[in-house]
Amino acid sequence: MAASMLYNPIGHKWMRIGKASLTLRRMNALMNTYARFPLTLVRGQGSKVWDDAGKAYLDFISGIAVNTLGHAHPQLVAAISEQVATMLHCSNLFHIPKQQQLAAKLATLSGLAEVFFSNSGAEANEGAIKLARKYFFDQGSDRRGIISATRSFHGRLLSTLTATGQDKVKHGFDPLPPGFGHVPLNDIDALRAAIRADTAAILLEPLQGEGGVNIAHPEYLQAVRKLCDEEGILLILDEIQTGMGRTGTMFAFEHAGIQPDILTLAKGLGGGVPIGALLATEKVAASFGPGTHGSTFGGNPLSCTAALTVIDVMEKESLLLNVAARGEQLLQGLLALSASFDWIDEVRGQGLLLGLACSLEVAPIITACRDAGLLVLAAGPDVIRILPPLNVSAADIDEALGVLEEVFTEVNQ
Ligand SMILES: *Cc1c(COP(=O)(O)O)cnc(C)c1O
Repeated sequence: MAASMLYNPIGHKWMRIGKASLTLRRMNALMNTYARFPLTLVRGQGSKVWDDAGKAYLDFISGIAVNTLGHAHPQLVAAISEQVATMLHCSNLFHIPKQQQLAAKLATLSGLAEVFFSNSGAEANEGAIKLARKYFFDQGSDRRGIISATRSFHGRLLSTLTATGQDKVKHGFDPLPPGFGHVPLNDIDALRAAIRADTAAILLEPLQGEGGVNIAHPEYLQAVRKLCDEEGILLILDEIQTGMGRTGTMFAFEHAGIQPDILTLAKGLGGGVPIGALLATEKVAASFGPGTHGSTFGGNPLSCTAALTVIDVMEKESLLLNVAARGEQLLQGLLALSASFDWIDEVRGQGLLLGLACSLEVAPIITACRDAGLLVLAAGPDVIRILPPLNVSAADIDEALGVLEEVFTEVNQ
Protein backbone atom coordinates (compact mmCIF):
# COMPACT_ATOMS: atom_id res chain seq x y z
CA MET A 1 0.00 0.00 0.00
CA ALA A 2 1.45 3.33 -1.03
CA ALA A 3 2.37 5.68 1.78
CA SER A 4 0.02 8.26 0.37
CA MET A 5 -2.97 6.03 1.10
CA LEU A 6 -4.76 6.33 4.39
CA TYR A 7 -7.26 3.94 5.90
CA ASN A 8 -10.60 5.67 6.11
CA PRO A 9 -12.47 4.19 9.07
CA ILE A 10 -15.76 5.70 7.97
CA GLY A 11 -15.86 4.06 4.57
CA HIS A 12 -13.62 1.05 5.20
CA LYS A 13 -11.88 1.92 1.97
CA TRP A 14 -8.49 3.28 1.16
CA MET A 15 -8.47 6.92 0.26
CA ARG A 16 -5.77 8.93 -1.37
CA ILE A 17 -4.23 11.77 0.60
CA GLY A 18 -4.41 14.69 -1.76
CA LYS A 19 -4.09 18.38 -1.12
CA ALA A 20 -7.50 18.72 0.51
CA SER A 21 -7.42 15.22 1.88
CA LEU A 22 -7.87 15.61 5.58
CA THR A 23 -11.41 16.90 5.28
CA LEU A 24 -12.32 13.18 5.15
CA ARG A 25 -14.42 13.46 2.03
CA ARG A 26 -16.94 10.72 1.55
CA MET A 27 -15.05 7.94 -0.17
CA ASN A 28 -17.31 4.91 0.10
CA ALA A 29 -20.04 3.13 -1.80
CA LEU A 30 -22.84 3.94 0.65
CA MET A 31 -25.53 6.40 -0.35
CA ASN A 32 -25.00 9.51 1.70
CA THR A 33 -28.32 9.45 3.58
CA TYR A 34 -26.84 9.84 7.07
CA ALA A 35 -24.55 12.61 8.33
CA ARG A 36 -22.66 10.06 10.38
CA PHE A 37 -20.73 10.79 13.55
CA PRO A 38 -16.97 10.29 13.04
CA LEU A 39 -17.08 7.16 15.16
CA THR A 40 -17.15 3.41 14.49
CA LEU A 41 -18.72 1.30 17.21
CA VAL A 42 -17.69 -2.34 17.15
CA ARG A 43 -18.86 -3.95 20.39
CA GLY A 44 -21.38 -3.50 23.19
CA GLN A 45 -22.16 -4.90 26.61
CA GLY A 46 -25.11 -3.69 28.67
CA SER A 47 -25.23 0.12 28.52
CA LYS A 48 -21.63 0.40 27.26
CA VAL A 49 -20.24 0.34 23.73
CA TRP A 50 -16.65 0.41 22.47
CA ASP A 51 -15.21 2.03 19.36
CA ASP A 52 -12.60 0.56 17.02
CA ALA A 53 -9.82 2.18 19.07
CA GLY A 54 -11.03 0.48 22.26
CA LYS A 55 -12.54 3.59 23.83
CA ALA A 56 -15.70 2.96 25.93
CA TYR A 57 -18.89 5.05 25.81
CA LEU A 58 -22.11 5.03 27.79
CA ASP A 59 -24.77 4.35 25.18
CA PHE A 60 -27.69 6.66 25.96
CA ILE A 61 -28.93 6.47 22.36
CA SER A 62 -29.63 2.71 22.32
CA GLY A 63 -29.70 2.55 18.53
CA ILE A 64 -32.48 5.20 18.75
CA ALA A 65 -34.67 3.37 21.28
CA VAL A 66 -33.90 -0.04 19.76
CA ASN A 67 -31.54 -1.77 22.22
CA THR A 68 -34.24 -2.29 24.86
CA LEU A 69 -32.08 -4.72 26.86
CA GLY A 70 -28.80 -2.94 26.17
CA HIS A 71 -26.15 -4.79 24.22
CA ALA A 72 -25.44 -8.53 24.22
CA HIS A 73 -28.04 -9.48 26.84
CA PRO A 74 -27.24 -13.18 27.49
CA GLN A 75 -30.82 -14.39 27.29
CA LEU A 76 -31.42 -12.57 23.99
CA VAL A 77 -28.12 -13.81 22.56
CA ALA A 78 -28.95 -17.41 23.56
CA ALA A 79 -32.53 -17.32 22.27
CA ILE A 80 -31.73 -15.88 18.86
CA SER A 81 -28.66 -18.10 18.46
CA GLU A 82 -30.78 -21.16 19.10
CA GLN A 83 -33.45 -19.96 16.69
CA VAL A 84 -30.88 -19.31 13.96
CA ALA A 85 -29.66 -22.90 14.35
CA THR A 86 -33.23 -24.24 14.29
CA MET A 87 -34.97 -22.19 11.61
CA LEU A 88 -34.00 -18.72 10.49
CA HIS A 89 -36.74 -17.90 8.05
CA CYS A 90 -40.03 -19.41 7.04
CA SER A 91 -42.50 -17.90 4.59
CA ASN A 92 -45.78 -16.50 5.84
CA LEU A 93 -47.39 -19.05 3.53
CA PHE A 94 -46.92 -21.42 6.50
CA HIS A 95 -47.93 -21.26 10.16
CA ILE A 96 -45.11 -19.88 12.34
CA PRO A 97 -45.58 -20.83 16.03
CA LYS A 98 -43.31 -18.07 17.41
CA GLN A 99 -45.28 -15.50 15.40
CA GLN A 100 -48.56 -16.76 16.82
CA GLN A 101 -47.14 -16.66 20.36
CA LEU A 102 -45.85 -13.13 19.89
CA ALA A 103 -49.13 -11.93 18.41
CA ALA A 104 -51.05 -13.41 21.35
CA LYS A 105 -48.65 -11.80 23.83
CA LEU A 106 -48.86 -8.36 22.19
CA ALA A 107 -52.64 -8.61 21.99
CA THR A 108 -52.83 -9.38 25.72
CA LEU A 109 -50.45 -6.58 26.62
CA SER A 110 -52.15 -3.94 24.46
CA GLY A 111 -55.81 -4.91 24.76
CA LEU A 112 -56.01 -5.03 20.95
CA ALA A 113 -57.03 -8.20 19.17
CA GLU A 114 -54.92 -8.93 16.09
CA VAL A 115 -51.40 -8.29 14.83
CA PHE A 116 -49.63 -7.97 11.47
CA PHE A 117 -45.81 -8.07 11.51
CA SER A 118 -43.60 -5.85 9.37
CA ASN A 119 -39.85 -5.25 9.31
CA SER A 120 -39.74 -1.60 10.29
CA GLY A 121 -41.66 1.28 11.78
CA ALA A 122 -42.48 2.99 8.51
CA GLU A 123 -43.87 -0.27 7.15
CA ALA A 124 -46.05 -0.68 10.24
CA ASN A 125 -47.45 2.83 9.72
CA GLU A 126 -47.97 2.20 6.00
CA GLY A 127 -49.98 -0.87 7.00
CA ALA A 128 -51.95 1.19 9.53
CA ILE A 129 -52.88 3.75 6.86
CA LYS A 130 -53.87 1.00 4.42
CA LEU A 131 -55.94 -0.75 7.08
CA ALA A 132 -57.80 2.43 8.07
CA ARG A 133 -58.69 3.14 4.43
CA LYS A 134 -59.73 -0.45 3.74
CA TYR A 135 -61.90 -0.48 6.86
CA PHE A 136 -63.98 2.43 5.54
CA PHE A 137 -63.90 1.11 1.97
CA ASP A 138 -65.42 -2.15 3.24
CA GLN A 139 -68.24 -0.17 4.85
CA GLY A 140 -69.00 1.61 1.58
CA SER A 141 -67.79 4.86 3.15
CA ASP A 142 -65.71 7.51 1.36
CA ARG A 143 -63.55 8.21 4.41
CA ARG A 144 -59.89 8.04 3.35
CA GLY A 145 -58.11 11.05 4.92
CA ILE A 146 -55.46 10.84 7.62
CA ILE A 147 -54.82 13.74 10.01
CA SER A 148 -51.54 13.82 11.92
CA ALA A 149 -49.67 16.38 14.01
CA THR A 150 -47.18 19.04 13.04
CA ARG A 151 -43.62 18.11 14.09
CA SER A 152 -44.60 14.43 14.03
CA PHE A 153 -42.42 11.72 12.52
CA HIS A 154 -43.93 8.62 10.98
CA GLY A 155 -41.24 7.26 8.65
CA ARG A 156 -39.65 7.59 5.22
CA LEU A 157 -42.04 5.76 2.89
CA LEU A 158 -44.09 7.96 0.57
CA SER A 159 -47.23 7.49 2.68
CA THR A 160 -45.47 7.95 6.01
CA LEU A 161 -43.32 10.93 5.02
CA THR A 162 -46.52 12.57 3.79
CA ALA A 163 -48.09 11.88 7.20
CA THR A 164 -44.98 13.27 8.89
CA GLY A 165 -45.48 16.85 10.07
CA GLN A 166 -42.05 18.14 9.01
CA ASP A 167 -41.38 19.63 5.56
CA LYS A 168 -37.72 18.62 5.51
CA VAL A 169 -38.53 14.94 4.94
CA LYS A 170 -40.86 15.71 1.97
CA HIS A 171 -38.69 18.09 -0.02
CA GLY A 172 -38.02 16.79 -3.54
CA PHE A 173 -40.34 13.79 -3.37
CA ASP A 174 -43.38 15.16 -5.19
CA PRO A 175 -45.95 14.04 -6.10
CA LEU A 176 -46.96 13.01 -2.59
CA PRO A 177 -50.04 10.80 -2.08
CA PRO A 178 -53.24 12.75 -1.44
CA GLY A 179 -55.41 12.56 1.66
CA PHE A 180 -53.10 13.81 4.43
CA GLY A 181 -53.51 16.83 6.71
CA HIS A 182 -51.77 18.22 9.78
CA VAL A 183 -52.81 20.02 12.96
CA PRO A 184 -50.80 21.35 15.91
CA LEU A 185 -50.43 18.86 18.76
CA ASN A 186 -52.45 19.42 21.97
CA ASP A 187 -55.00 21.70 20.26
CA ILE A 188 -58.29 19.82 20.28
CA ASP A 189 -60.20 22.69 18.62
CA ALA A 190 -57.79 22.68 15.68
CA LEU A 191 -58.30 18.94 15.33
CA ARG A 192 -62.07 19.21 15.53
CA ALA A 193 -62.00 21.91 12.85
CA ALA A 194 -59.79 19.78 10.58
CA ILE A 195 -62.06 16.73 10.57
CA ARG A 196 -64.05 16.50 7.35
CA ALA A 197 -66.62 14.13 5.91
CA ASP A 198 -63.80 12.16 4.27
CA THR A 199 -61.52 11.87 7.33
CA ALA A 200 -60.75 8.24 8.16
CA ALA A 201 -58.26 8.45 11.01
CA ILE A 202 -56.17 10.55 13.38
CA LEU A 203 -52.55 9.40 13.55
CA LEU A 204 -50.54 10.56 16.58
CA GLU A 205 -47.40 9.81 18.59
CA PRO A 206 -48.31 9.95 22.32
CA LEU A 207 -44.84 11.44 22.81
CA GLN A 208 -43.13 12.83 19.72
CA GLY A 209 -39.56 11.54 19.57
CA GLU A 210 -37.86 12.86 16.42
CA GLY A 211 -39.92 16.07 16.48
CA GLY A 212 -38.41 17.31 19.76
CA VAL A 213 -39.65 15.12 22.65
CA ASN A 214 -43.11 16.72 22.74
CA ILE A 215 -45.74 15.14 24.96
CA ALA A 216 -49.32 14.76 23.82
CA HIS A 217 -51.04 15.68 27.10
CA PRO A 218 -53.23 12.94 28.61
CA GLU A 219 -56.29 15.24 28.55
CA TYR A 220 -55.65 15.91 24.87
CA LEU A 221 -55.40 12.18 24.06
CA GLN A 222 -58.61 11.56 26.01
CA ALA A 223 -60.35 14.32 24.07
CA VAL A 224 -59.03 12.93 20.78
CA ARG A 225 -60.35 9.49 21.68
CA LYS A 226 -63.76 10.97 22.45
CA LEU A 227 -63.77 12.99 19.24
CA CYS A 228 -62.90 9.90 17.18
CA ASP A 229 -65.78 8.01 18.78
CA GLU A 230 -68.22 10.85 18.16
CA GLU A 231 -67.17 11.20 14.53
CA GLY A 232 -66.92 7.46 13.89
CA ILE A 233 -63.29 7.68 12.82
CA LEU A 234 -60.23 5.68 13.88
CA LEU A 235 -57.45 6.60 16.28
CA ILE A 236 -54.05 5.30 15.18
CA LEU A 237 -51.26 5.65 17.73
CA ASP A 238 -47.68 5.46 16.48
CA GLU A 239 -45.75 3.98 19.41
CA ILE A 240 -42.79 2.96 17.30
CA GLN A 241 -40.48 4.92 19.62
CA THR A 242 -42.57 5.04 22.82
CA GLY A 243 -43.87 1.45 22.88
CA MET A 244 -42.33 -1.55 24.65
CA GLY A 245 -41.81 0.14 28.00
CA ARG A 246 -39.82 3.20 26.93
CA THR A 247 -42.07 5.63 28.84
CA GLY A 248 -42.52 3.48 31.98
CA THR A 249 -45.70 1.70 30.93
CA MET A 250 -45.69 -0.98 28.25
CA PHE A 251 -47.40 1.49 25.90
CA ALA A 252 -47.49 5.27 26.33
CA PHE A 253 -51.26 5.38 25.75
CA GLU A 254 -51.69 3.77 29.18
CA HIS A 255 -50.67 7.09 30.81
CA ALA A 256 -53.85 8.63 29.33
CA GLY A 257 -56.06 5.64 30.12
CA ILE A 258 -57.24 5.36 26.52
CA GLN A 259 -57.01 2.73 23.79
CA PRO A 260 -56.31 3.23 20.10
CA ASP A 261 -58.10 1.38 17.30
CA ILE A 262 -54.77 0.76 15.59
CA LEU A 263 -51.31 0.72 17.20
CA THR A 264 -47.88 0.57 15.57
CA LEU A 265 -44.66 -0.68 17.16
CA ALA A 266 -41.13 -1.28 15.95
CA LYS A 267 -37.89 0.16 17.35
CA GLY A 268 -37.60 -1.51 20.78
CA LEU A 269 -39.73 -4.53 19.94
CA GLY A 270 -36.97 -6.86 18.76
CA GLY A 271 -34.23 -5.46 20.99
CA GLY A 272 -32.09 -4.94 17.85
CA VAL A 273 -33.48 -7.56 15.48
CA PRO A 274 -35.62 -5.74 12.88
CA ILE A 275 -39.35 -6.17 13.45
CA GLY A 276 -42.40 -3.92 13.36
CA ALA A 277 -45.98 -4.61 14.30
CA LEU A 278 -49.39 -3.25 13.46
CA LEU A 279 -52.14 -4.08 15.96
CA ALA A 280 -55.86 -3.45 15.66
CA THR A 281 -59.20 -4.20 17.19
CA GLU A 282 -60.98 -7.28 15.87
CA LYS A 283 -63.52 -5.18 13.98
CA VAL A 284 -60.86 -3.11 12.19
CA ALA A 285 -58.44 -6.00 11.62
CA ALA A 286 -61.19 -7.89 9.79
CA SER A 287 -60.55 -5.66 6.75
CA PHE A 288 -57.17 -7.29 6.13
CA GLY A 289 -58.10 -10.55 4.45
CA PRO A 290 -55.85 -12.77 2.29
CA GLY A 291 -54.23 -10.78 -0.51
CA THR A 292 -54.83 -7.33 1.00
CA HIS A 293 -51.44 -6.91 2.65
CA GLY A 294 -48.26 -8.90 3.12
CA SER A 295 -44.53 -9.03 3.79
CA THR A 296 -41.91 -11.59 2.82
CA PHE A 297 -39.82 -11.14 5.94
CA GLY A 298 -42.36 -9.72 8.38
CA GLY A 299 -42.65 -11.76 11.57
CA ASN A 300 -40.17 -14.46 10.64
CA PRO A 301 -39.01 -16.96 13.29
CA LEU A 302 -35.85 -15.01 14.11
CA SER A 303 -37.47 -11.62 14.69
CA CYS A 304 -40.41 -13.10 16.62
CA THR A 305 -38.05 -15.05 18.87
CA ALA A 306 -36.16 -11.84 19.57
CA ALA A 307 -39.35 -9.94 20.45
CA LEU A 308 -40.70 -12.76 22.63
CA THR A 309 -37.40 -12.80 24.50
CA VAL A 310 -37.37 -9.03 24.95
CA ILE A 311 -40.85 -9.20 26.52
CA ASP A 312 -39.88 -12.18 28.66
CA VAL A 313 -36.79 -10.40 30.01
CA MET A 314 -38.80 -7.21 30.57
CA GLU A 315 -41.19 -9.20 32.73
CA LYS A 316 -38.57 -11.31 34.57
CA GLU A 317 -36.33 -8.34 35.30
CA SER A 318 -39.26 -6.00 36.11
CA LEU A 319 -37.96 -3.49 33.59
CA LEU A 320 -41.06 -1.28 33.71
CA LEU A 321 -40.22 -0.59 37.36
CA ASN A 322 -36.63 0.09 36.37
CA VAL A 323 -37.75 2.55 33.69
CA ALA A 324 -39.89 4.39 36.24
CA ALA A 325 -37.11 4.50 38.87
CA ARG A 326 -34.21 5.27 36.51
CA GLY A 327 -36.40 7.70 34.57
CA GLU A 328 -37.15 9.58 37.78
CA GLN A 329 -33.47 9.57 38.76
CA LEU A 330 -32.48 10.92 35.34
CA LEU A 331 -35.30 13.48 35.35
CA GLN A 332 -34.32 14.80 38.79
CA GLY A 333 -30.68 15.00 37.73
CA LEU A 334 -31.58 16.87 34.55
CA LEU A 335 -33.88 19.24 36.45
CA ALA A 336 -31.01 20.02 38.82
CA LEU A 337 -28.75 20.72 35.83
CA SER A 338 -31.39 22.91 34.19
CA ALA A 339 -31.48 25.03 37.36
CA SER A 340 -27.72 25.66 37.02
CA PHE A 341 -27.58 26.40 33.28
CA ASP A 342 -29.84 29.14 32.05
CA TRP A 343 -29.64 28.01 28.40
CA ILE A 344 -31.62 24.87 29.33
CA ASP A 345 -35.22 25.97 28.80
CA GLU A 346 -37.08 22.81 29.67
CA VAL A 347 -36.66 19.19 30.68
CA ARG A 348 -39.44 17.06 29.21
CA GLY A 349 -40.46 13.55 28.28
CA GLN A 350 -41.51 10.40 30.06
CA GLY A 351 -39.69 7.42 31.52
CA LEU A 352 -36.42 6.89 29.66
CA LEU A 353 -37.26 9.13 26.71
CA LEU A 354 -36.22 12.54 27.99
CA GLY A 355 -35.33 15.77 26.24
CA LEU A 356 -33.48 18.92 27.19
CA ALA A 357 -34.84 21.85 25.23
CA CYS A 358 -32.04 24.42 24.91
CA SER A 359 -31.80 27.98 23.73
CA LEU A 360 -28.64 27.18 21.77
CA GLU A 361 -27.58 24.70 19.09
CA VAL A 362 -27.08 21.31 20.66
CA ALA A 363 -24.82 19.70 18.02
CA PRO A 364 -21.55 20.92 19.62
CA ILE A 365 -22.77 19.79 23.05
CA ILE A 366 -23.56 16.34 21.70
CA THR A 367 -20.06 16.19 20.18
CA ALA A 368 -18.50 17.22 23.49
CA CYS A 369 -20.50 14.53 25.31
CA ARG A 370 -19.25 11.96 22.81
CA ASP A 371 -15.65 13.03 23.34
CA ALA A 372 -16.27 12.70 27.09
CA GLY A 373 -17.64 9.16 26.66
CA LEU A 374 -21.42 9.66 26.59
CA LEU A 375 -23.59 9.06 23.52
CA VAL A 376 -26.73 11.19 23.39
CA LEU A 377 -28.85 12.32 20.47
CA ALA A 378 -30.49 15.43 19.07
CA ALA A 379 -34.22 15.79 18.38
CA GLY A 380 -34.15 18.79 16.06
CA PRO A 381 -31.58 21.61 16.31
CA ASP A 382 -32.14 22.56 19.95
CA VAL A 383 -33.21 19.48 21.89
CA ILE A 384 -30.86 16.91 23.43
CA ARG A 385 -32.60 13.51 23.51
CA ILE A 386 -31.60 10.87 26.04
CA LEU A 387 -32.61 7.22 25.54
CA PRO A 388 -30.69 4.71 27.68
CA PRO A 389 -31.48 0.98 27.54
CA LEU A 390 -34.44 0.02 29.73
CA ASN A 391 -32.19 -2.05 32.03
CA VAL A 392 -29.76 0.84 32.65
CA SER A 393 -28.32 0.89 36.18
CA ALA A 394 -28.48 3.69 38.75
CA ALA A 395 -24.68 3.94 38.58
CA ASP A 396 -24.77 4.42 34.80
CA ILE A 397 -27.36 7.21 35.16
CA ASP A 398 -25.16 8.91 37.76
CA GLU A 399 -22.13 8.58 35.52
CA ALA A 400 -24.04 10.08 32.56
CA LEU A 401 -25.29 12.98 34.70
CA GLY A 402 -21.68 13.59 35.77
CA VAL A 403 -20.53 13.78 32.14
CA LEU A 404 -23.41 16.12 31.26
CA GLU A 405 -22.53 18.44 34.15
CA GLU A 406 -18.87 18.49 33.11
CA VAL A 407 -19.72 19.23 29.46
CA PHE A 408 -22.39 21.83 30.34
CA THR A 409 -19.91 23.61 32.62
CA GLU A 410 -17.49 23.87 29.66
CA VAL A 411 -20.28 25.23 27.45
CA ASN A 412 -20.84 28.01 29.99
CA GLN A 413 -17.22 29.15 29.81
C1 LIG B 1 -38.40 5.72 14.00
C2 LIG B 1 -39.83 6.04 13.88
C3 LIG B 1 -40.56 5.68 12.73
C4 LIG B 1 -39.91 5.01 11.54
O1 LIG B 1 -39.40 3.75 11.86
P1 LIG B 1 -38.37 3.03 10.84
O2 LIG B 1 -38.15 1.68 11.46
O3 LIG B 1 -37.15 3.87 10.78
O4 LIG B 1 -39.07 2.95 9.51
C5 LIG B 1 -41.90 5.96 12.69
N1 LIG B 1 -42.52 6.57 13.73
C6 LIG B 1 -41.86 6.93 14.84
C7 LIG B 1 -42.59 7.58 15.97
C8 LIG B 1 -40.49 6.70 14.95
O5 LIG B 1 -39.82 7.10 16.05
